[in-house]
Amino acid sequence: MTTATTPVKAFSFGGGWQSMAALVMAATGDLDYRTFLMANVGDDSEHPGTLRYLRQYAMPYAEEHGIELVVLDRVMKRTRMVRTLYQDLTREGSRSLKIPVRMLNGAPGTRSCTVSFKIEVVGDELKRRGASKSNPATVGIGINLDEIGRANKRRCEPHEEIEYPLLERGIRRIDCARIIRSAGLPVPPKSSCWFCPFHRPETWHDMRRNEPDLFEKACRLEDLLNRRRDELGKDHVYLIRFARPLRNAIPDGVDTLPFDDEDTGCDSGWCMT
Ligand code: SF4
Repeated sequence: MTTATTPVKAFSFGGGWQSMAALVMAATGDLDYRTFLMANVGDDSEHPGTLRYLRQYAMPYAEEHGIELVVLDRVMKRTRMVRTLYQDLTREGSRSLKIPVRMLNGAPGTRSCTVSFKIEVVGDELKRRGASKSNPATVGIGINLDEIGRANKRRCEPHEEIEYPLLERGIRRIDCARIIRSAGLPVPPKSSCWFCPFHRPETWHDMRRNEPDLFEKACRLEDLLNRRRDELGKDHVYLIRFARPLRNAIPDGVDTLPFDDEDTGCDSGWCMT
Protein backbone atom coordinates (compact mmCIF):
# COMPACT_ATOMS: atom_id res chain seq x y z
CA MET A 1 0.00 0.00 0.00
CA THR A 2 1.21 3.53 -0.81
CA THR A 3 2.04 5.60 2.28
CA ALA A 4 3.16 9.20 2.66
CA THR A 5 6.79 8.04 2.69
CA THR A 6 6.52 5.65 -0.23
CA PRO A 7 7.10 7.63 -3.40
CA VAL A 8 4.47 7.09 -6.07
CA LYS A 9 5.78 5.97 -9.44
CA ALA A 10 3.69 5.97 -12.62
CA PHE A 11 4.15 6.13 -16.36
CA SER A 12 2.09 8.59 -18.38
CA PHE A 13 0.42 6.36 -20.99
CA GLY A 14 -0.48 8.21 -24.20
CA GLY A 15 -1.65 5.15 -26.16
CA GLY A 16 0.97 5.44 -28.92
CA TRP A 17 4.17 3.57 -29.83
CA GLN A 18 6.30 4.94 -27.01
CA SER A 19 3.83 4.21 -24.21
CA MET A 20 3.05 0.77 -25.57
CA ALA A 21 6.76 -0.09 -25.84
CA ALA A 22 7.18 1.07 -22.22
CA LEU A 23 4.28 -1.15 -21.15
CA VAL A 24 5.88 -4.17 -22.82
CA MET A 25 9.25 -3.34 -21.21
CA ALA A 26 7.55 -3.11 -17.81
CA ALA A 27 5.85 -6.46 -18.40
CA THR A 28 9.14 -8.13 -19.33
CA GLY A 29 11.02 -6.62 -16.39
CA ASP A 30 13.08 -4.15 -18.43
CA LEU A 31 11.37 -1.11 -16.90
CA ASP A 32 10.59 -0.57 -13.25
CA TYR A 33 7.00 0.72 -13.56
CA ARG A 34 3.92 -1.14 -12.33
CA THR A 35 1.39 1.68 -12.83
CA PHE A 36 0.45 3.32 -16.12
CA LEU A 37 -1.95 6.28 -16.12
CA MET A 38 -3.78 7.36 -19.26
CA ALA A 39 -5.44 10.79 -19.22
CA ASN A 40 -8.32 10.30 -21.65
CA VAL A 41 -9.23 13.57 -23.38
CA GLY A 42 -12.61 11.96 -24.06
CA ASP A 43 -14.09 9.04 -25.96
CA ASP A 44 -15.33 11.64 -28.46
CA SER A 45 -11.95 13.40 -28.65
CA GLU A 46 -9.18 10.78 -28.60
CA HIS A 47 -8.57 9.27 -32.01
CA PRO A 48 -10.98 6.28 -32.30
CA GLY A 49 -8.13 3.99 -33.43
CA THR A 50 -6.21 4.71 -30.21
CA LEU A 51 -9.24 3.87 -28.07
CA ARG A 52 -9.86 0.66 -30.04
CA TYR A 53 -6.24 -0.39 -29.56
CA LEU A 54 -6.36 0.50 -25.87
CA ARG A 55 -9.37 -1.71 -25.21
CA GLN A 56 -8.49 -4.52 -27.57
CA TYR A 57 -4.75 -4.87 -26.85
CA ALA A 58 -3.23 -2.58 -24.21
CA MET A 59 -5.65 -3.18 -21.34
CA PRO A 60 -5.83 -6.99 -21.69
CA TYR A 61 -2.02 -7.13 -22.05
CA ALA A 62 -1.50 -5.04 -18.91
CA GLU A 63 -3.96 -7.14 -16.95
CA GLU A 64 -2.37 -10.37 -18.11
CA HIS A 65 1.02 -9.12 -16.81
CA GLY A 66 -0.23 -7.73 -13.51
CA ILE A 67 0.33 -4.12 -14.48
CA GLU A 68 -2.12 -1.43 -13.48
CA LEU A 69 -3.29 0.55 -16.52
CA VAL A 70 -5.81 3.15 -15.41
CA VAL A 71 -7.83 5.36 -17.77
CA LEU A 72 -8.58 8.74 -16.18
CA ASP A 73 -11.32 11.09 -17.34
CA ARG A 74 -11.29 14.81 -16.72
CA VAL A 75 -13.87 15.43 -14.03
CA MET A 76 -15.10 18.98 -13.42
CA LYS A 77 -14.29 19.98 -9.86
CA ARG A 78 -17.59 21.80 -9.24
CA THR A 79 -20.11 19.41 -10.81
CA ARG A 80 -18.11 16.13 -10.58
CA MET A 81 -19.23 15.49 -14.18
CA VAL A 82 -16.90 14.21 -16.89
CA ARG A 83 -16.12 16.93 -19.44
CA THR A 84 -14.35 15.97 -22.69
CA LEU A 85 -12.23 18.28 -24.81
CA TYR A 86 -14.64 18.04 -27.75
CA GLN A 87 -17.56 18.95 -25.45
CA ASP A 88 -15.56 21.92 -24.21
CA LEU A 89 -14.95 23.14 -27.75
CA THR A 90 -18.47 22.64 -29.06
CA ARG A 91 -20.76 23.47 -26.15
CA GLU A 92 -23.26 26.25 -26.77
CA GLY A 93 -21.90 29.73 -26.14
CA SER A 94 -18.36 28.45 -25.62
CA ARG A 95 -15.61 30.90 -26.49
CA SER A 96 -13.08 28.34 -25.45
CA LEU A 97 -10.15 27.83 -27.81
CA LYS A 98 -8.20 25.37 -25.75
CA ILE A 99 -6.50 23.64 -28.66
CA PRO A 100 -3.46 25.02 -30.54
CA VAL A 101 -5.44 26.38 -33.52
CA ARG A 102 -3.35 27.78 -36.37
CA MET A 103 -3.33 31.54 -36.81
CA LEU A 104 -3.18 33.29 -40.19
CA ASN A 105 0.63 33.10 -40.11
CA GLY A 106 0.42 29.33 -39.57
CA ALA A 107 1.77 29.45 -36.01
CA PRO A 108 -0.12 27.53 -33.34
CA GLY A 109 -1.97 29.67 -30.81
CA THR A 110 -1.47 29.16 -27.11
CA ARG A 111 -3.25 26.11 -25.80
CA SER A 112 -4.48 24.90 -22.46
CA CYS A 113 -5.70 21.44 -23.55
CA THR A 114 -2.51 19.60 -22.62
CA VAL A 115 -2.43 21.16 -19.16
CA SER A 116 -6.17 20.78 -18.43
CA PHE A 117 -6.75 17.39 -20.02
CA LYS A 118 -3.42 15.61 -19.50
CA ILE A 119 -1.03 17.17 -16.97
CA GLU A 120 -3.61 18.13 -14.35
CA VAL A 121 -5.59 14.89 -14.71
CA VAL A 122 -2.50 12.73 -14.12
CA GLY A 123 -1.28 15.20 -11.44
CA ASP A 124 -4.55 14.97 -9.49
CA GLU A 125 -4.41 11.19 -9.54
CA LEU A 126 -0.82 11.18 -8.27
CA LYS A 127 -1.81 13.54 -5.45
CA ARG A 128 -4.71 11.25 -4.60
CA ARG A 129 -2.18 8.42 -4.35
CA GLY A 130 -0.03 10.35 -1.89
CA ALA A 131 2.35 12.47 -3.98
CA SER A 132 3.22 15.86 -2.51
CA LYS A 133 5.87 18.53 -2.88
CA SER A 134 7.91 16.91 -0.14
CA ASN A 135 7.25 13.40 -1.44
CA PRO A 136 7.11 13.86 -5.21
CA ALA A 137 5.94 11.16 -7.58
CA THR A 138 8.21 9.89 -10.33
CA VAL A 139 6.45 10.18 -13.68
CA GLY A 140 7.78 8.37 -16.73
CA ILE A 141 7.20 10.06 -20.08
CA GLY A 142 7.57 8.11 -23.32
CA ILE A 143 9.87 10.23 -25.42
CA ASN A 144 12.29 8.32 -27.63
CA LEU A 145 15.73 9.29 -28.90
CA ASP A 146 14.40 10.51 -32.28
CA GLU A 147 12.36 13.20 -30.53
CA ILE A 148 14.84 14.29 -27.87
CA GLY A 149 13.78 17.93 -28.40
CA ARG A 150 10.43 17.15 -26.78
CA ALA A 151 12.02 16.27 -23.44
CA ASN A 152 10.94 19.29 -21.49
CA LYS A 153 10.87 18.84 -17.73
CA ARG A 154 9.29 22.25 -17.14
CA ARG A 155 5.81 20.93 -17.95
CA CYS A 156 5.00 19.17 -14.70
CA GLU A 157 3.40 19.77 -11.34
CA PRO A 158 5.39 20.62 -8.17
CA HIS A 159 4.62 17.18 -6.72
CA GLU A 160 6.18 15.36 -9.68
CA GLU A 161 9.63 14.49 -10.95
CA ILE A 162 9.77 13.63 -14.61
CA GLU A 163 12.01 10.97 -16.12
CA TYR A 164 12.43 9.73 -19.67
CA PRO A 165 13.24 6.01 -19.45
CA LEU A 166 13.17 5.37 -23.22
CA LEU A 167 15.47 8.29 -23.91
CA GLU A 168 17.86 7.21 -21.13
CA ARG A 169 18.08 3.76 -22.74
CA GLY A 170 18.72 5.21 -26.22
CA ILE A 171 15.51 3.72 -27.59
CA ARG A 172 14.49 5.01 -31.01
CA ARG A 173 11.04 5.05 -32.59
CA ILE A 174 11.87 2.01 -34.71
CA ASP A 175 12.93 0.13 -31.54
CA CYS A 176 9.50 0.87 -30.03
CA ALA A 177 7.82 -0.95 -32.93
CA ARG A 178 10.22 -3.89 -32.55
CA ILE A 179 9.59 -4.12 -28.79
CA ILE A 180 5.80 -4.06 -29.25
CA ARG A 181 5.91 -6.73 -31.97
CA SER A 182 8.22 -8.89 -29.83
CA ALA A 183 5.28 -9.25 -27.42
CA GLY A 184 3.07 -10.53 -30.25
CA LEU A 185 1.14 -7.26 -30.37
CA PRO A 186 0.36 -5.07 -33.38
CA VAL A 187 1.80 -1.55 -33.41
CA PRO A 188 -0.81 1.03 -32.31
CA PRO A 189 -1.81 4.00 -34.46
CA LYS A 190 -0.37 7.44 -33.63
CA SER A 191 -2.13 8.83 -30.61
CA SER A 192 -3.60 12.34 -30.40
CA CYS A 193 -6.98 14.03 -30.54
CA TRP A 194 -8.47 13.49 -34.01
CA PHE A 195 -8.88 17.28 -34.41
CA CYS A 196 -5.40 18.24 -33.16
CA PRO A 197 -4.01 21.25 -35.09
CA PHE A 198 -0.52 19.78 -34.57
CA HIS A 199 -1.32 17.09 -37.16
CA ARG A 200 1.03 17.12 -40.12
CA PRO A 201 -0.61 17.63 -43.55
CA GLU A 202 0.07 13.93 -44.33
CA THR A 203 -1.99 12.94 -41.29
CA TRP A 204 -4.93 15.05 -42.48
CA HIS A 205 -4.48 13.64 -45.95
CA ASP A 206 -4.57 10.06 -44.66
CA MET A 207 -7.64 10.89 -42.59
CA ARG A 208 -9.47 12.35 -45.57
CA ARG A 209 -8.69 9.25 -47.60
CA ASN A 210 -9.17 6.54 -44.95
CA GLU A 211 -11.58 8.10 -42.44
CA PRO A 212 -13.65 10.56 -44.49
CA ASP A 213 -16.39 10.89 -41.84
CA LEU A 214 -13.86 11.84 -39.19
CA PHE A 215 -12.21 14.29 -41.59
CA GLU A 216 -15.60 15.87 -42.30
CA LYS A 217 -16.23 16.13 -38.56
CA ALA A 218 -12.91 17.98 -38.16
CA CYS A 219 -13.90 20.36 -40.99
CA ARG A 220 -17.24 21.01 -39.29
CA LEU A 221 -15.49 21.73 -35.99
CA GLU A 222 -13.25 24.24 -37.78
CA ASP A 223 -16.38 25.84 -39.35
CA LEU A 224 -18.01 26.10 -35.92
CA LEU A 225 -14.96 27.75 -34.36
CA ASN A 226 -14.91 30.29 -37.18
CA ARG A 227 -18.63 31.09 -36.98
CA ARG A 228 -17.96 32.00 -33.37
CA ARG A 229 -14.90 34.03 -34.36
CA ASP A 230 -17.09 35.91 -36.87
CA GLU A 231 -19.55 36.79 -34.11
CA LEU A 232 -16.67 38.13 -32.03
CA GLY A 233 -15.20 40.04 -35.01
CA LYS A 234 -11.99 38.03 -34.85
CA ASP A 235 -9.74 36.55 -37.57
CA HIS A 236 -10.36 33.00 -38.67
CA VAL A 237 -8.29 30.18 -37.24
CA TYR A 238 -7.56 26.80 -38.80
CA LEU A 239 -6.72 23.22 -37.92
CA ILE A 240 -3.88 23.24 -40.47
CA ARG A 241 -1.06 25.73 -40.90
CA PHE A 242 -1.81 26.86 -44.48
CA ALA A 243 -4.12 29.77 -43.54
CA ARG A 244 -7.14 28.21 -45.21
CA PRO A 245 -9.88 25.79 -44.30
CA LEU A 246 -8.88 22.16 -43.93
CA ARG A 247 -11.38 21.17 -46.64
CA ASN A 248 -9.53 23.32 -49.20
CA ALA A 249 -6.03 22.77 -47.86
CA ILE A 250 -6.34 18.98 -48.19
CA PRO A 251 -8.17 18.46 -51.47
CA ASP A 252 -10.10 15.27 -52.02
CA GLY A 253 -8.42 12.63 -54.19
CA VAL A 254 -5.10 14.49 -54.57
CA ASP A 255 -2.00 12.56 -53.70
CA THR A 256 0.64 15.28 -53.73
CA LEU A 257 0.67 17.71 -50.86
CA PRO A 258 2.45 21.03 -50.44
CA PHE A 259 6.06 20.46 -49.35
CA ASP A 260 6.16 20.61 -45.60
CA ASP A 261 9.27 20.04 -43.54
CA GLU A 262 8.04 21.81 -40.44
CA ASP A 263 8.56 19.71 -37.35
CA THR A 264 5.14 20.17 -35.82
CA GLY A 265 3.94 18.35 -32.78
CA CYS A 266 3.32 18.61 -29.13
CA ASP A 267 6.60 19.62 -27.51
CA SER A 268 5.62 18.58 -24.00
CA GLY A 269 5.64 14.80 -24.24
CA TRP A 270 2.26 14.63 -22.48
CA CYS A 271 0.41 14.19 -25.80
CA MET A 272 1.30 11.97 -28.75
CA THR A 273 3.28 9.37 -26.90
S1 SF4 B 1 -3.39 16.01 -28.91
FE1 SF4 B 1 -3.44 18.16 -29.57
S2 SF4 B 1 -5.56 18.87 -29.21
FE2 SF4 B 1 -5.26 16.95 -28.04
S3 SF4 B 1 -4.66 17.59 -25.98
FE3 SF4 B 1 -2.76 17.26 -27.15
S4 SF4 B 1 -2.21 19.27 -28.07
FE4 SF4 B 1 -4.37 19.35 -27.36
